[in-house]
Amino acid sequence: MNSKRVPYRGRLAPSPTGYLHLGHARTFWVAQERARANGGTLVLRNEDLDSTRYQMQFVEAMLEDLRWFGYIWQEGPDCSGAFGPYNQSERMDFYRAALEKLRVGGFIYACTCSRKDIQSAARAPHAEDDDEPVYPGTCRDKSPSPKCCWRFRVPDGESISFVDGHFGPQQFIAGKDFGDFIVWRRDDVPAYQLVCAVDDAAMRITEVVRGADLLKSTARQLLLYRALGLPVPEFYHCPLMKDAAGVRLAKRHDVLSLRALREQGKSPEDLRRLW
Ligand SMILES: [Zn+2]
Repeated sequence: MNSKRVPYRGRLAPSPTGYLHLGHARTFWVAQERARANGGTLVLRNEDLDSTRYQMQFVEAMLEDLRWFGYIWQEGPDCSGAFGPYNQSERMDFYRAALEKLRVGGFIYACTCSRKDIQSAARAPHAEDDDEPVYPGTCRDKSPSPKCCWRFRVPDGESISFVDGHFGPQQFIAGKDFGDFIVWRRDDVPAYQLVCAVDDAAMRITEVVRGADLLKSTARQLLLYRALGLPVPEFYHCPLMKDAAGVRLAKRHDVLSLRALREQGKSPEDLRRLW
């Protein structure tokens, strides 16, 4: 395991598209506890690339909520560090270099499909999750055009496996459980899968702690690590919190935002007792 060979480096990677809620707080707390238990470093990375949803007010609120809850990070946008910048919006050069490497290596292709094209042609996703439809590969053999996104060509039929620190052995079949996925969006914004792998490697993260909704994304990212020749971290996925009605907490659950709970007079200790 990486953490036994090299100093443990974990990260909190919130995205400022709304107020942090209790579900994020729990996952982040696990990340912080694991970094502490390993005598490691915790990095705060501000995932502020999604300019359509990103709002400045949420960045300040996010930092304030994190500090209030009791998170302490050693590297981040507010305190610098050796592997910055820590705002993704300032890391475009890293992402463009990775995109170029993937393009030159023949790992990606330009796709001009609209969302509607894909929905009508795609095989239905598994009923039990809300993952994207499996892309049918329509553009695999077309030539690039100016208005396109870039998709990673997955090795159809290959089994992608890893051992998760919490859930144990995981296995996904490329082309079946997930299809060719977007690494660069049509609006010239790098996609989550790409920036996550690039940043975790560049920031020397040894263990990625995040929600169980990203288990399948880990399989996608393992393909990116391999294509880009990057060192692979360990993974630890946390079970997702649900509300009283059994619905997964999302940012729209404003009533369970840390901000709202704090205004109701709850303390971080009160909230941790709910876990
Ligand atoms: Zn296409």
